[in-house]
Amino acid sequence: MNSIPISKPSISQKEIEYVLDAVKSGWVSSLGKYIDIFEKNFADYCGTKYAVTTSNGTAALHLALVSFGIGPGDEVIIPDLTFIATANAVKYSGAKVITVDIDKDTLCINEDEVKKAITKNTKAIIPVHLYGHPAAMIELNEIARNHNLIVIEDAAEAHGAEINGIKVGGIGHAGTFSFYGNKVLTTGEGGMVTTNDKNIYDRLKYLRDHAMDSDKRYWHEEVGFNYRMTNLQAAMGVAQLERINEILDKKKKIFQWYEQQLHNESKIKLNFESEGYKNVYWVVCIEINGFDEEKRDSLIEALKASGIDSRPFFYPVSDMPMYKSNDTKIAHLASKTGLNLPSFFDITKEEVGYVCKNLKKLLQ
Ligand SMILES: *Cc1c(COP(=O)(O)O)cnc(C)c1O
Repeated sequence: MNSIPISKPSISQKEIEYVLDAVKSGWVSSLGKYIDIFEKNFADYCGTKYAVTTSNGTAALHLALVSFGIGPGDEVIIPDLTFIATANAVKYSGAKVITVDIDKDTLCINEDEVKKAITKNTKAIIPVHLYGHPAAMIELNEIARNHNLIVIEDAAEAHGAEINGIKVGGIGHAGTFSFYGNKVLTTGEGGMVTTNDKNIYDRLKYLRDHAMDSDKRYWHEEVGFNYRMTNLQAAMGVAQLERINEILDKKKKIFQWYEQQLHNESKIKLNFESEGYKNVYWVVCIEINGFDEEKRDSLIEALKASGIDSRPFFYPVSDMPMYKSNDTKIAHLASKTGLNLPSFFDITKEEVGYVCKNLKKLLQ
């Protein structure tokens, strides 16, 4: 068997056609019909009034933060287990990163820990829908209402995930998405901010384009950014979004293939799905009971030797020198014992079988 990668984009004839059409149109930068279509279709899909394309998911987070006026002197609460972009975007805004522990089942931010971390300087919470499972948005929205906080959903890994039938990106004050090559949908590099707030929508568009005055070209009253997406990327995004149901169905099927073969393994905890929540299973996750970082890393090496690519879970943000802070118990344990298994669109049942067979053998 050829080696099995952890991730690989799914690019059909549709993506090729739309991108070719965009290239031929001459609208290769950030104006063009695909930008408008992608934004409109993505907002419709998420059930939000507005969606704004950005150059990547990190830019989407930063742009959302500054559009809400978050900056120096403010504190923003994030989960300790996430991709570093969540923390970095807060840092770029000038606000202080506050990391809190996660829930052991969903691996998303723990709402009780959020409550404990709130101070008079707290301005926002960024729940991350980690590995495709939505964070506890209903509880977090209530905390936010009680303390007058902004909630920005980091949905970079969870396009199409839902709570009680409502899609992520439309549950908080704003949501941000990534279209990096390994995400649920990809445009190569790319991002999106969703919101129902007209004022925020206007701020997002204005700050994305160097805060240029809408009536007076090349006049700027504020420092903005170039966080625009290209029409070429948007063309790919339109095609990917038209295929999202097909993509999510396959993700679920892949997870079920793993589940069928691993659910009897007493040491293994697989992705979780809370009642009323829809996990999109961006990547298959396993945590191995009784493992430590060293054992986990040796398992990754051993899988590699059998031609199977895997990834460790993220390291806790609070372990990084720039964000050093108090230890979080659950995030640290998950981080040391967790790994992601190959879950890309084109993986076959046979390949999943091969991964599981090797994994079980190595765990004996
Ligand atoms: C990928 C990712 C991002 C950043 O997206 P980029 O498009 O790579 O900038 C942010 N947050 C999370 C949780 C991610 O997984």
